[in-house]
Amino acid sequence: MKFSIQSRNDSLSNQLMEAAKGYLTDFGLVFDEEEPNIVVSIGGDGTMLHGFHKYKHRLEDTAFVGIHTGHLGFYADWKPKELEKLVISLARKEFNVIEYPLLEVTIQYRHSGDSATYLAMNESTVKSPEVTLVMDVELNGEHFERFRGDGLCVSTPSGSTAYNKALGGAIIHPSLSSMQLTEMASINNRVFRTVGSPLVLPEHHNILLTPVKGPDFMVTIDHLQLLHKDVKSIEYKVAAEKVRFARFRSFPFWKRVHDSFIDDNG
Ligand code: NAD
Repeated sequence: MKFSIQSRNDSLSNQLMEAAKGYLTDFGLVFDEEEPNIVVSIGGDGTMLHGFHKYKHRLEDTAFVGIHTGHLGFYADWKPKELEKLVISLARKEFNVIEYPLLEVTIQYRHSGDSATYLAMNESTVKSPEVTLVMDVELNGEHFERFRGDGLCVSTPSGSTAYNKALGGAIIHPSLSSMQLTEMASINNRVFRTVGSPLVLPEHHNILLTPVKGPDFMVTIDHLQLLHKDVKSIEYKVAAEKVRFARFRSFPFWKRVHDSFIDDNG
């Protein structure tokens, strides 16, 4: 089995990275940054997001596991003191693989006719470089609403505890293959109207955003933000690909939600 390590690059994470690399090599695993079967992320959820994007071209052959060197993360849920246990479980292949849904984002450009497709593990947001974003929202080919406001966010189930939660979205269990659309400060009055509630859409549904004002948009894919010019449309759907996590012990999703947001002492 081949492994790679993604570190946040602070001194504690780098120290653990060196220790993990030594232990795993001693146990006969091969360090391979190009084609790892296991990616050990050491840092926080952001580190895991970086690791995911580095290896998103080979998701079928890669499983991720995260150690947190700061506070408990959603993806980074192992403690540094558990490193040796983790290494032994990896070496003995004593783990299960669980799969979480991802989001596919396709941006079409007007004049060139080109398109770009991205995968997000947490979410994608759309904002305008001007003050107000104005976009038509279509669901499965039917006009749904004209959105005016700060922006729109489409999240995965595992990303529902991140930006989506701050926007008042629901927390969705990752076993539900779905995506969630949430609004950022929509303008709602007698003239302008949006649904106001987050929408949860299943697999095979799609969300199409088409510009009403301005062809340029700030689009985020997880931690990456880019200005896209001359945009014709942005389409969201649940991706065919899934991200795989190596699970060495039971740590149910709702327990992670409890420990992250309520308290982690009992
Ligand atoms: P980062 O790594 O500092 O992450 C920001 C915070 O989001 C951290 O506390 C991290 O633990 C948490 N986080 C990330 N993914 C999570 C998840 N799935 N569930 C619960 N918490 C999660 O910053 P970054 O590297 O720029 O990360 C980008 C992420 O930051 C985005 O994907 C977005 O979800 C999040 N974000 C949140 C807000 C907000 O809550 N208002 C605003 C912008 C971005």
